This record gives sequence, C-alpha cells and structure tokens, in this order.
Amino acid sequence: MEDKIFIVGQLVSKTCAKCGSEQSHAITTLTKKGLISKVTCMVCSTVSAFKSGIAAAKDDGKVKTSTPYDRTRTYRKGQTMMHSSFGYGEVLSVIEPQKIDVKFTDGMRRLIHARNEA
Ligand SMILES: [Zn+2]
Repeated sequence: MEDKIFIVGQLVSKTCAKCGSEQSHAITTLTKKGLISKVTCMVCSTVSAFKSGIAAAKDDGKVKTSTPYDRTRTYRKGQTMMHSSFGYGEVLSVIEPQKIDVKFTDGMRRLIHARNEA
C-alpha cells in the first residue's frame, strides 16, 4: 500500500462544519506518520481535525443518487429512488401490491408502483 505524502500548507477538500459545505482547507498539522491531523478552512479559518485522513475526502465526494421514480416499476422494501418532487427516497414497506410507503427527507409518502401504463 502506497501512502500519499502530505505537506503543511497543502490544500485539501473537506466539508467544513461551520460553513456547512465543502471548502478548501489548508493542512495545518501532520501526524508522525505524515497523515493529516488538522486542517484550517480557507473560508472561515476554522481549525478542525481531519479524522479519517484522505478517506474522508473520498466520502465527501460521494453523492447520493438513485434511479428516477417510475410508477410502472415494481419496488421492494429497501430500494431507493429519486423522485422529481420529493427527492431521494427509500422504500420502507410494500403495503399493497400497487402501493408503497417511501421515506423521503421531508417525511413519508405513499406512492403507487407496479402500474402498467394504460
Ligand atoms: Zn469553513
């Protein structure tokens, strides 16, 4: 396994808790092993711990995506969807053969599914 070499002052991308969004952070301190331990936000100057090293940066880049909601599709519990109005949702349960309860960020909604287009 090859370790990346970091230097103090180098910029890394990280989600800033104070800014609430991803910002450029300057590496402030490094551990003995040469891993990032503390970073300073370039926007608000907040110094924060860079807990999981570079893995955190990778996670931050991950965007929750799913396939668009399609009422002709048959959903199962645990499946996810991207609804045009409600956003990202997860199927909580199948209530009836053609009805599902879906948990969206703003609450639960009952949607239809498995409808063959008439
Ligand atoms: Zn910030």
